[in-house]
Amino acid sequence: MNNGRKSVGILAVQGDFELHAKMLERLGVEWKLVKRPEDLVGAAALIMPGGESTTMLKFFAEEGLGPAVKEFAAAQGKPIFGTCAGAILLAREVLNPPQDHLGLLDVTIERNAYGRQIDSSVEQGDCPEISSEPVEMVFIRAPIIRRVGEGVRVLGRAGGLPVLVEQGNILAATFHPELTTDETIHRYFLGKIADGK
Ligand code: GLN
Repeated sequence: MNNGRKSVGILAVQGDFELHAKMLERLGVEWKLVKRPEDLVGAAALIMPGGESTTMLKFFAEEGLGPAVKEFAAAQGKPIFGTCAGAILLAREVLNPPQDHLGLLDVTIERNAYGRQIDSSVEQGDCPEISSEPVEMVFIRAPIIRRVGEGVRVLGRAGGLPVLVEQGNILAATFHPELTTDETIHRYFLGKIADGK
């Protein structure tokens, strides 16, 4: 029950959705798991976690989640935050290999782009508009954003690459902010609900 308070949906078909739930608990924000289109009803925003985007796409097809998520963001204007695999799902174009996508964020993103040698890494990135301090960023079999469309703002960079981008109500990170104790990125996303953006 969420007693009519705004709750944030967390896509829970696969991946590390539980850590996003823990982060929202720490921030005192109501959340609900989203596995089917009807779970989006009453959600004020949606987080799409990291995991395996190909597996998530299978669930999207089985449950009819793609049109529902598009309607949630495009018609209802509700904020969506995609991390890693979630960011891949949001993109307008996916490489390595090309695959289905929601097209809500005008970027081209390349999967598993750091190569096998660097399966995961922790870097200090910069998000100057959000944080005056460096932000710890955990990358796991991460994608790289290869093209940023005109309407997309780069909010964070690491190693010279864009790693946190925003287009209106859509926010996407190629890293995993839920794996650190730093709440900065989640707080920024939650601000988009308050703004009604
Ligand atoms: N490599 C995964 C994919 O392509 C993403 C990895 C992640 O979410 N940590 O979907």
